[in-house]
Amino acid sequence: MDRIQLQTSRRRELLDITSFVAEAVAASPVAEGVCHIFVPHTTAAVFINEGADPAVGEDILEALAAMLPKIPFKHMEGNADAHVLASLVGSSVTVPVSEGTLKLGTWQAIFFLELDGPRRREVWLSSLRA
Ligand code: ZN
Repeated sequence: MDRIQLQTSRRRELLDITSFVAEAVAASPVAEGVCHIFVPHTTAAVFINEGADPAVGEDILEALAAMLPKIPFKHMEGNADAHVLASLVGSSVTVPVSEGTLKLGTWQAIFFLELDGPRRREVWLSSLRA
């Protein structure tokens, strides 16, 4: 299993991790299969969306924040908003691999979503043969 180490710098932040994942896939012996990308954190998430225009990521962050309900959270740590959004977005994505390269759509990128930073984070990658 490969690991990507990240240091986030803001409370909520998007990091495009596509190039790190692509490097790991290129170095993996699995040329035909899938790459499973997993975030082992409860206040961070991973998703795939447009990477060409940075405004899309900004819109997604703003829209996610606007979706938070105005309810009294019970979680004592004070970061219930981050737990809720991490659950909505999810902790893994899977991307096809063919000829040793990630098969993403033309406009797609893989984003790490920080929801309670800044923190040191990891992303775990598993390559699975088809
Ligand atoms: Zn918490």
